[in-house]
Amino acid sequence: MNGKTMKPETIAIHTPGIGRDGAVAASIQLSTTWQHGPAYENLHGFTYVRDTNPNVADLEARLAAMEGGAVAAAFASGMAAGAALLAGLPEGCRVIFHHDLYHDFRNLAAATFPVRKIEAVFIDMTDLEALGDALTDNTALVWFETPSNPKLDIIDIAAVSRLAHEAGTQVAVDGTFATPVLQRPLDLGADYVIHSLTKYMGGHSDIQGGAVIAREDNDAARALFATRKVTGGVLSPFNAWLVSRGLQTLHCRMEAHCRNAGVLAEFLSAHDRVETVHYPFLSGRAGEDIARAQMKAGGGMLSVEIVGGRDGALAVASRVKLILNATSLGGVESLIEHRASVEGPTPRSPQGLLRLSVGLENADDLIEDLDQALDF
Ligand code: PLP
Repeated sequence: MNGKTMKPETIAIHTPGIGRDGAVAASIQLSTTWQHGPAYENLHGFTYVRDTNPNVADLEARLAAMEGGAVAAAFASGMAAGAALLAGLPEGCRVIFHHDLYHDFRNLAAATFPVRKIEAVFIDMTDLEALGDALTDNTALVWFETPSNPKLDIIDIAAVSRLAHEAGTQVAVDGTFATPVLQRPLDLGADYVIHSLTKYMGGHSDIQGGAVIAREDNDAARALFATRKVTGGVLSPFNAWLVSRGLQTLHCRMEAHCRNAGVLAEFLSAHDRVETVHYPFLSGRAGEDIARAQMKAGGGMLSVEIVGGRDGALAVASRVKLILNATSLGGVESLIEHRASVEGPTPRSPQGLLRLSVGLENADDLIEDLDQALDF
């Protein structure tokens, strides 16, 4: 049996090439430095923790195998991972983003692109014609989340990759909401997958991390490691170890997250205080056919637009008892968040929108909580 024939859940547990010195569970290597030869000869595979360390290397092997990529680079956060990828873009290029985008990537582009004369263009990437119109000779990258944060828009990875490649442009997919358990963008033509490991991959709301997984091991992919080394955004050994441990149960957790979220999406769709439910597998929703084709299940995230706009949304958020008001997502506990309040002075999310990260509690308990919260 080898890495090509193993199924993803097996790979997550038995990643080819990872030796464990006879111990069944991986250990944590906390050393920040390794003995080298007198002229800095690398004698043990590692030299200094900021370059890389055994737990990070172990995690990267798992991530690359699970995504079907040639190489993975792990970072101290999802933002650090995305920033490293964007740092490799040439001056004066264009980057096209899907307009529903994690707000700090929008902030990152606003803060760092102007000095490098990089143009950020935001379009509705569910509209392939709009993408065709936006692609120019100098477009270096097309970047989107699918499902997107927070509106769970579904972007057709294969179609966008085809169009972008015809124009000589690379494609990066932020797959944080889906994880490789539900969706493998590289198989569908994308060049890079980005993850916030802080979410489902870690899975317990207790680590921060990020990763870029590249389809090819080329100069651009190697530049990610060089950027990481000089900017210092490497993941700590302990956090890498925690994510590796989390990946071993990712499949089981995602099954339960998806089951609960599907039940909640149906319940909320039928509720008269809810105007709209955004959930990838909801029947009749825009993009449902694409979601079903490129995802194994609908995921654990959903958002709802509450009757009464901001007041209605804040009433629900203030009435939940079991579901916690907190940012982030992908942990075992259910979280709710009024995204417009998080997004700063010029929020893009509708004021009536609440995002839910559906956890692993019993779905009946979650429904009971939402039912009483919606009775405002
Ligand atoms: N990508 C998505 C879709 C996110 O939701 C987030 C954070 O919420 C990030 C990236 C950034 O990840 P991190 O918080 O680990 O830096």
